[in-house]
Amino acid sequence: MRAVVLGAESVTFTADYPAPIPAVGEVAVRVLCAGVCETDLQLVRGYMGFRGILGHEFVGVAESGPFRGRRVVGEINASCGTCELCRQGLANHCPSRSVLGILNRDGAFADVVCLPQTNLHPVPDEISTRSAVFTEPLAAAFQIPAQVPLRSGQKVVVLGDGRLGNLCAQVLAREGCSVTVVGKHARKLALLSQLGLATVPLESLSRERRADLVVDCTGSPTGLATALEIVRPRGTIVLKTTVAGPQTLSLAPVVIDEVTIVGSRCGPFPRALVALRERQIDVESLIDGVYPLEEATTALDRAHTEPVLKFLLAVDPSSPPP
Ligand SMILES: [Zn+2]
Ligand SMILES: [Zn+2]
Repeated sequence: MRAVVLGAESVTFTADYPAPIPAVGEVAVRVLCAGVCETDLQLVRGYMGFRGILGHEFVGVAESGPFRGRRVVGEINASCGTCELCRQGLANHCPSRSVLGILNRDGAFADVVCLPQTNLHPVPDEISTRSAVFTEPLAAAFQIPAQVPLRSGQKVVVLGDGRLGNLCAQVLAREGCSVTVVGKHARKLALLSQLGLATVPLESLSRERRADLVVDCTGSPTGLATALEIVRPRGTIVLKTTVAGPQTLSLAPVVIDEVTIVGSRCGPFPRALVALRERQIDVESLIDGVYPLEEATTALDRAHTEPVLKFLLAVDPSSPPP
């Protein structure tokens, strides 16, 4: 089958990767469309030391199981189901989990991907394939209200105007927060303004410490430092992006100002699917291009070097995303 494979030296497209055989409890999914994410770009730069097929944001058609023949999206953590964390309902933190296209499990930039049946969610007919690709990152944005109590009108600053920052800002505004997005890219900030969100270019950001909640979606080592400069005493910082490599910064302000720092990763797929079905969140405006799978390395290069929002990969050439 065709696949986009991260090796020791580089990312390559291959037309003859062995098709995966689903393990017991797993379902093979014929991939229709996949999304390029910041995590993919970090993996290419060595984050997690991953080797194998990239890709964790996808829509496909289940080839077996109760959703056979239907479009599905898939949660990316494949857990053991028996350890203490799994039994406590924290399967996303299972110590022996594999993670689709990120850790010990081939991903979705391929004709076929395998996941446990329990990871799959059918896509409602009202959601287009190209919108459904956003289920995974949108679920990650909905993890913030799942973790942090929010008050209507509370001052939220989202650092980062990229893919995830945009989705987090839309979700938090919908939850009733007063959201300002800080970014470096005029075009991305203009898009957020069109969506009705307040924006500030990074160079104009006032370093007053007034934000109740700061969400770091920068993917940059400077994100947390900036967050600490603007969060109010007793405020909360949510770290939404991972940064490859160690970071150095003084944590004294965290103690002195009793700041709460919350790490936040994967979120609730059912909530994201409802938001897409009800058109509560705009995702289509984030799509900056659609590439055939054969040109995935071009899409990855461009996503790394140019200020684009979302690139999709049309994996199934017979059914390009509508
Ligand atoms: Zn992602
Ligand atoms: Zn487990």
